[in-house]
Amino acid sequence: MIKSTDRYNLHTHSFYCRHGHGTIKEYCDEAERLSLELFGFSEHMPLPDGSFGRTRMHNDEIPLYLEDIEREGKSRSMTVLRGFECDYLPRFRDYFRYYLEEEKVDYLVNAVHFVQHKDRCVSPFEDRMSVDDVYRYRDQLIEALDTGLFAFQAHPDLIFASYRSWDKVAEAVSRDIIQFAIDHRIPLEVNGNGMIKPKIGDEYQYPRRVFWSLASEMGAYCIRNSDCHEIENLAKSRGMQEEFVNQCRLKRAYPLVRSGRLGFQF
Ligand SMILES: [Zn+2]
Ligand SMILES: [Zn+2]
Repeated sequence: MIKSTDRYNLHTHSFYCRHGHGTIKEYCDEAERLSLELFGFSEHMPLPDGSFGRTRMHNDEIPLYLEDIEREGKSRSMTVLRGFECDYLPRFRDYFRYYLEEEKVDYLVNAVHFVQHKDRCVSPFEDRMSVDDVYRYRDQLIEALDTGLFAFQAHPDLIFASYRSWDKVAEAVSRDIIQFAIDHRIPLEVNGNGMIKPKIGDEYQYPRRVFWSLASEMGAYCIRNSDCHEIENLAKSRGMQEEFVNQCRLKRAYPLVRSGRLGFQF
């Protein structure tokens, strides 16, 4: 068991995902330079049918990625964890479960980058989100967390990077997500990657302050991560993340490792 720490980053990408840069070794060097105690890789998980494949490693690269982390992590002053950030689809629940239960990974992270429709999906990064999309986003996110497979929820407010108006729908959906996380003791992530993208007006694309003020009021627990896709971005947003968590008066969850798995102290 590794005691809980505030010196961590659990959302890290690399060259493996094809839209990030930097090797596992280079990230570990940077994490040590920053005196992190717990450092987790959460590369986008490829799916068996190639869904979302454009921005993923190939399926046959999974063992290389996991071995790379294990090998690099051995000689370090910090604990290095193997993880995946997952776009959950119900038909692949057993696939995700396999990686967790066979101890191939130390944790899985849930993310909703794509809102599913019957014959297509849309993304808050590229498309305008409709009211229907906002409800679908909530349903997908909660359905995934309800499997119990995921250690935390990445950027729970990502939908509001695109759906900007804080109206009744936005607030109701946010309440449902936050309440679910509270009831199931799942930390919500304040995401640093959205902080270094061009602002919209004087606001971050995400995290959205209105969402997190509500989370604070309702008593949710947060963690904060860089979600870096470049080496230099591991450190870049850390100050902003801290400031944001403090300004929103959010309660913090502290990661720890228990029986080889990522967990949290609340
Ligand atoms: Zn990415
Ligand atoms: Zn990510």
